[in-house]
Amino acid sequence: MEGTVWFSSVTEVTSKGKGMRESRVLVLNVSCEPLQILAIRRAVRLVLGGKAEVVEFGAGHLRSEHHVLARPTVIRLHRYVHVPYQDLPFTRAGVLLRDNYACQYCGATPLPALLTIDHVMPRALGGQSSWENVVTACRACNGRKANKPLHVAHMTLRSRPVRPTRPSLLRHLLSRHPTWHQYIVG
Ligand SMILES: [Zn+2]
Repeated sequence: MEGTVWFSSVTEVTSKGKGMRESRVLVLNVSCEPLQILAIRRAVRLVLGGKAEVVEFGAGHLRSEHHVLARPTVIRLHRYVHVPYQDLPFTRAGVLLRDNYACQYCGATPLPALLTIDHVMPRALGGQSSWENVVTACRACNGRKANKPLHVAHMTLRSRPVRPTRPSLLRHLLSRHPTWHQYIVG
């Protein structure tokens, strides 16, 4: 029970930190391979709870009435966490990440907000919303392809869309982060 009280008091402490909701922390397994990315509040709870150590600090501090903590950007768990194989849920954000935020027809990389997702086999023709049938497309290519299958639109894909694994998406995410890309394994 003592642990529960301790953790809830840490939540109270850390929730007062400025801008903490936007901050994310990379969590490494005890073996140093990247495991996941957590909200800073949860990462701080792991460190203060003795379950993880800070590997890298970022700029600035986290403040509360009673504590000042250096801001962690990378932490490492003290115990090995086995990650069971899980199918990733299909999401737009996941498709953009898998495709490296690049249009899969022309290779353009506009701002992510300007990217769309395109059904390779159009929904109107029975195409599914699935990892294997949806790709990232710029607006121009999406408009050009419209509701036509590839051969009718005379367009080709730069790579075949596949279902990503959790580690492969995490690798993509780390590669886009200046502090984290050094933790990419393999
Ligand atoms: Zn394009």
